[in-house]
Amino acid sequence: MNACERLAHVRERIERACEKANRKPEEVRLLGATKTVPPERIREFFSCGLSLFGENRVQELLKKQEALRGLPIEWHFIGVLQTNKVKYLMGRVSLIHSLDRKSLADEIQKRAKKAGIVQDVLIEVNVGGEETKAGVSEDELFSLFEYTMGLENVRVLGLMTIPPYEEDPERARPYFEKLRKLKEKLEEEFRVRLPHLSMGMSNDFEVAIQEGATIVRIGTLLFGERS
Ligand SMILES: *Cc1c(COP(=O)(O)O)cnc(C)c1O
Repeated sequence: MNACERLAHVRERIERACEKANRKPEEVRLLGATKTVPPERIREFFSCGLSLFGENRVQELLKKQEALRGLPIEWHFIGVLQTNKVKYLMGRVSLIHSLDRKSLADEIQKRAKKAGIVQDVLIEVNVGGEETKAGVSEDELFSLFEYTMGLENVRVLGLMTIPPYEEDPERARPYFEKLRKLKEKLEEEFRVRLPHLSMGMSNDFEVAIQEGATIVRIGTLLFGERS
């Protein structure tokens, strides 16, 4: 399959999952997770109509933005974010998916204020409680959320998670359900609306959509296996 066929295939599966869940396809955004994918390949997918991409590493993001400058691509940052790299992201990504600690929130606040912007973020939650995974624990989530709500130049739009890997996507469902419930709890307790749930990857996005995902982050299924 060429790039456009691959994209069409993924979009079809998203539409079918939406139908099954009684949701509108417009409610789910497809993000191409482009770690290790060269700029020329990204350009191909852009030509096919995909305009939202996410990078895991700041250096790699900057390189690709440089190589693809001029194209109206929307970039998100989806990887582990080191505090000392925040300054490079300002004005370059419309959404950071991986806020997971107060010190990082402080740094985003400081740099966003300096840049004269409000930076949209998602809080990453470690729903599986895995030691090796990024994200706040459920226990820390409410305190980090409240803290970040108090920062003028940082706006929380929802939650993100990477659940434990499961061969059978059905087994990821409880994690997605948990993230949705946490979002609902935050909305209720803080009387805010959180529009986004970033969850679902190549192996499990259909289940994530059924559980309320608004952004699915797809790498392998679009771009092929990473070398
Ligand atoms: C790599 C990556 C993805 C995409 O994973 P695939 O299984 O290749 O679809 C999604 N989200 C994050 C944060 C990633 O690092």
